[in-house]
Amino acid sequence: MTEKDLQPLFSRRERPNMSVLSTYLNVDQSQESNLNRGFETQLQAMNSSIRKTLHDTAEIERFQNASHHIEDFVSAYKHGARSLAMFFDSTDGFFWHQEIDSPVQSQARWDRELFLQPLAAALDESERFGVVLVDHAHRRVFSVFLNEITEFPRNGFDPRKVRHIKTVGTDHLGSASRVQHKADEQIRINLRKVVEDVDWLVKTQRVHFLVLAGRSEVTSQLREMLPKRLALLVIGAADMAIDSSPKDVLDVVSAVNERHERDTENQVVKEVITAAAKKQKAVAGLSHTLNAVNQGRVWQLIYSDGLCSPGFECRECAALFTAHGRCCHYCGGKIEAVRDVIERAVEHGLRQGARIEVVKGHASATLKVAGGIGAFLKARTASLRS
Ligand SMILES: [Zn+2]
Repeated sequence: MTEKDLQPLFSRRERPNMSVLSTYLNVDQSQESNLNRGFETQLQAMNSSIRKTLHDTAEIERFQNASHHIEDFVSAYKHGARSLAMFFDSTDGFFWHQEIDSPVQSQARWDRELFLQPLAAALDESERFGVVLVDHAHRRVFSVFLNEITEFPRNGFDPRKVRHIKTVGTDHLGSASRVQHKADEQIRINLRKVVEDVDWLVKTQRVHFLVLAGRSEVTSQLREMLPKRLALLVIGAADMAIDSSPKDVLDVVSAVNERHERDTENQVVKEVITAAAKKQKAVAGLSHTLNAVNQGRVWQLIYSDGLCSPGFECRECAALFTAHGRCCHYCGGKIEAVRDVIERAVEHGLRQGARIEVVKGHASATLKVAGGIGAFLKARTASLRS
């Protein structure tokens, strides 16, 4: 799943009537309440609480059509993922579903349009990784996506050609050093093949990031041998044995990624705040960010996880505001209250092709001082007012 795969969702238009049921369901089997298909009970409870709020006969019919479709799908679902995202539009019978391998909070939304923010947030955390696990004699190649690991069979090296040098007596030092030199040369030849593997991974598996795994003396040598364009993709190295299980490799990659994700978030927040202060194609704070969204100028939207703020939206052009005005100052349309203007800003941003970065922990605390939300802007064009 990439942002490209989600384009059919982002391009769907708002419906004139309430007809779209968006459902996020946590089906994680490590949670006791989800065992024995407990998630089905939870889904029915969410749907019946929405159903109770509806009074219009035609709308009830549309809702039941949607909720039955999603409940049928879930009742046939054989668990594997930790969460499910599902959308059903009763207007045209559109149905879309996706497994998400991160724990997403269960929630259902009945609306005129798709509720995409949780999906975009989950996607932000799920990049595609390449992993090479190397030692003096072997190489293993993996890709990791949405917490699933795939190992690609590669031709291993001939281990007989590589000598493992252990402790030797001082009287053998001369010959041991020659043997060591030969082994070093062999490792170098082997690592060159690993470099080719890495290149293959990036080209054919579309990986965004690389993790180098193996004994640190080998991975540091490998890192030096990578051409710059590949070295730039390396987000970390992990010390591990060549015969580690794919599960162990996955755990290590997840830990490296977690660290990298947090570092990136801290960096992005620092940059957006600094650039906004200098007015260099960035804004910080809710009202400035909403202005940028309204003008279609957001390149990347950054916000603190869990941030939520009531606000206002124009019924005509969907412009967003923090304060209630008489009418929309873009089109003069009628303004109505929305329960969460952050969520609306994310949805608008997604439809404009903006990238979304949800930050947590330390980065989130730093961003909250600046209003909890900010954005990098697209390059200005002459047609945009300054
Ligand atoms: Zn308007």
